[in-house]
Amino acid sequence: MMKITVAKFGGSSLADHAQTLKACDIIHSDPCRQVIVVSAPGKRNVKDTKITDLLIHWTNTIDPQEKQAIQNIISARFQEINPENPTEISLHLKGKFDETISRGEYYMAQTIATILGTNWEFVDAASLIFFDMYGHIDQARTTHAFNLLRQKMKSNAQKKYVIPGFYGSMPDKSIKTLPRSGSDVTGAIVASCLDADLYENWTDTNGIASADPRLVNNPSTVHLLSYQELRFLTWGGATVFHFDAVKPVKDKNIPIQVMNTNNPTGQGTLIVPDTSKNLNYRKSWITGIAAKKDFSEIRISMDGMNEQVGFIQKILTIFQYHGISIEHMPTGIDDISLIVSSHQLLGKIEEIRSKIKEWEPTANVEIHQNLSLITIVGQKMKGKSGVLARITSSLENAEINIETINQSARQTTITIGVKQLLLKKAMQAIYDCCIAE
Ligand code: ASP
Repeated sequence: MMKITVAKFGGSSLADHAQTLKACDIIHSDPCRQVIVVSAPGKRNVKDTKITDLLIHWTNTIDPQEKQAIQNIISARFQEINPENPTEISLHLKGKFDETISRGEYYMAQTIATILGTNWEFVDAASLIFFDMYGHIDQARTTHAFNLLRQKMKSNAQKKYVIPGFYGSMPDKSIKTLPRSGSDVTGAIVASCLDADLYENWTDTNGIASADPRLVNNPSTVHLLSYQELRFLTWGGATVFHFDAVKPVKDKNIPIQVMNTNNPTGQGTLIVPDTSKNLNYRKSWITGIAAKKDFSEIRISMDGMNEQVGFIQKILTIFQYHGISIEHMPTGIDDISLIVSSHQLLGKIEEIRSKIKEWEPTANVEIHQNLSLITIVGQKMKGKSGVLARITSSLENAEINIETINQSARQTTITIGVKQLLLKKAMQAIYDCCIAE
């Protein structure tokens, strides 16, 4: 049987007629691309508005003239995408919010199915992706619906399918949308439920960058990485797609290929379960660097802390009571620091400080804010000597003090805290020393 590739195209890949034709050429160029998942048309330029945002605006406005004006803009966008056979747009005043904002995907899937040709069929996501009453994916109903689709695919190998991303249906048949950018999640669910051989994610960048381009000049593209490395890079803000969109395919070990619709012959980024057998593909032992801002460090020090049984547990209880999750917890003999995202501490700092002092009057508590965390990620770092030396000497040369540091148990990440003001400089220094060839 022919391999199944599920290919998801993002909004920028379908923003207008020219982009949509590029997507269609890509789809036609590989017969394995049997199931396509689409986003709503996105921005054509930086000043443009995504169809989903227009639809949100439509639902939020009560002025009938403004509603009509927005509907006209949306219709014109679809008219431009397929001038020969434009999809007719109708937005219902009685439609619920989620249903209305999902119509960008709904109409785009119909539009591209028409352009792709008669062997392409539109399948409404409402008949494939089901939520339970709590809004979680109803695995049993969803799997059953995809089993039926698979049978259809087996019985007629000529037929191919287009599915709108971003939504599914609730038990009462109403439409429920996923979070913003949710078509990536739809694509992953479709790939997983169809046991696809490959999940392709077509976007407008050459793949996953080894560092955030807002912090590092021209970072290179990572061509191969593991799911775990992706998790760390997306934690630090790699924006190609959200990690939630990886889970369904990760659970089935389906590789993900991130590709650029504007550069279809490029290498892109391949994400696989494990790269450890394939470590020679990359010279650098670092896969990428991720960074996240706005952390605070609560430093607690006290003579003889190491001898006290249950001290850390007491401290953790205070954070648990306040519902604060802890990102890192570097410890010394007589001190411990808890690193948490600053927004979680809002209005709670004094209460936490006094609770610690109430339990341990001799403890010294200091709160340091405006910290950024840099995570250096690389499966290849495990067991390698000199990794930290390279990183720290790059920071020494840039005259940047390390506020805190932590190596993960798996030895595949090292997290360094620096003053927020120095983040960009620190990122560039580590990148230049450890990744740039
Ligand atoms: N159209 C939706 C959004 O703009 C979903 C998506 O594109 O994935 O967030």
